[in-house]
Amino acid sequence: MRNITDVDAAGGVLRRSQIKPVYDATVPYWRTELHPIDDHRSTEELPEECDIAIIGAGFSGVATAYHLDKLHDGKERPSIVMLEARRVCEGATGRNGGHVKMKTATVHGLIEKFGTELAMEVRDLVMAQNYALKDAVETENLDCEFELRRSYDVYIDEDEAEKAKKDFLANLKAGARWTRDVDMIEGKNIEQVTSIKGAKLALSVPICSLWPYKFVSQILARLVERKAVNLQTNTPVTSVDSTSPRHPSASIIHTPRGTLKAKKLIFATNAYTAGICPSYHETITPVRGTASHLVPSNLISPHLSHTYNINYARPSPTSKSRVDYLNPRPDGSIVVGGGNWTYSNSLSKWYDNFDDSTQLSEARPHFDSLMQRHFKGWEESGAGVERVWTGIQGYTPDGLAHVGEVPGKEGRQWILAGFNGGGNAFIWLTAKGVVEMVANGKDFEDTGLPKLFKTTEERLRQRME
Ligand SMILES: Cc1cc2nc3c(=O)[nH]c(=O)nc-3n(C[C@H](O)[C@H](O)[C@H](O)COP(=O)(O)OP(=O)(O)OC[C@H]3O[C@@H](n4cnc5c(N)ncnc54)[C@H](O)[C@@H]3O)c2cc1C
Repeated sequence: MRNITDVDAAGGVLRRSQIKPVYDATVPYWRTELHPIDDHRSTEELPEECDIAIIGAGFSGVATAYHLDKLHDGKERPSIVMLEARRVCEGATGRNGGHVKMKTATVHGLIEKFGTELAMEVRDLVMAQNYALKDAVETENLDCEFELRRSYDVYIDEDEAEKAKKDFLANLKAGARWTRDVDMIEGKNIEQVTSIKGAKLALSVPICSLWPYKFVSQILARLVERKAVNLQTNTPVTSVDSTSPRHPSASIIHTPRGTLKAKKLIFATNAYTAGICPSYHETITPVRGTASHLVPSNLISPHLSHTYNINYARPSPTSKSRVDYLNPRPDGSIVVGGGNWTYSNSLSKWYDNFDDSTQLSEARPHFDSLMQRHFKGWEESGAGVERVWTGIQGYTPDGLAHVGEVPGKEGRQWILAGFNGGGNAFIWLTAKGVVEMVANGKDFEDTGLPKLFKTTEERLRQRME
């Protein structure tokens, strides 16, 4: 990858400080049933100061506010202001696959790159989070189609199937404990078991799925009702001064509606972080992705109870992997995302691109007849695209989130951002760890968060390849 701080693919100037949520975003399936909290402002005027400011009302920002509230339950609460450029959950959280999963290939990749011990910290977080999300749904009585279920990593590509099998069996033989939850399926009945035509291998893993917008907006509504958070939607942060001579121990947050002084500031801005936090200019790159909602004209029974990552056959052994994710919905429709090989040749369309107001139209034909092409029994389903949308992910050079105190701004600013392609699997418990740092003064190492997530000066020096 290139260093695109100053120049974009068309030769124009693109400074990372211009990265921001755009208006007139494409409308994802998940934002078709809006909650009254969607464009709420707790007070007409922006407060002038607060104890803790959270920028971003997506999964990260709301999870952070929730755990802050829990920590202060029955005690004196800090004043918390949440600033959101657009509406609640209009960023990646409202546009993703609703899949809370870590692929087996990702586990293998982490083990190869960082060793088993560090990789397992990340995998354990994902597993713990499945149950923590279930607890939250039950405790808060949320109506968000939450399901504990299983997911298939299916391989149609021969070479990839062989590698996945070899990696898995090596881990199994070595007694790696994560393999206990994973089931390997192959042999003559594999198409029947997985429903996928041409499947060579499948690894079945425990996961959960939910309606991300409903989960986040309902939690946020309860926080606003309890007056635990002052929510300010449609309030973009344009810059943050952290070295104001008048307020050396505070962050001064500028918006078109006025200025907010915060004793503590949390960036929950994922892909957009570089726009207002210069330390991350070269570290978090906005990457545009796309997903779709497919609806069958004839309802198919039985229901597809598992979710999927499908690794399709590649045109040649040197081609990059072609992977989609599928999340069958309770009503028989399916959310499908991926298809990035259909537009990947055109770098500026997706890389360092933060515009979710337009479509990646190349992917639409791929999504349109996907069920008929790949699923047994779906040939006459009439399944087709009901809508397609784009969304912006925050990619980092090492593929891992940046979490903790912003280097050089210790005690004043924290971050949880850069979740690459899969934040749903990490954010809920990562936010809990961040809250331990912000409110209880814990060191990162004492939060139990994966060491690989810690944001450091050294990681800030890494560059995209
Ligand atoms: C198409 C697509 C499919 C995906 N599929 C999956 C999936 O199936 N599973 C999975 O785990 N992950 C998936 N992801 C990734 C996942 O959506 C993200 O990792 C996750 O939602 C990040 O949550 P967040 O709250 O950190 O970021 P966001 O949801 O993007 O929230 C950040 C918020 O900050 C606000 N903000 C940013 N800058 C400013 C500013 N200057 N002032 C005020 N507000 C600001 C934004 O408006 C936004 O609301 C997908 C992403 C995309 C785009």
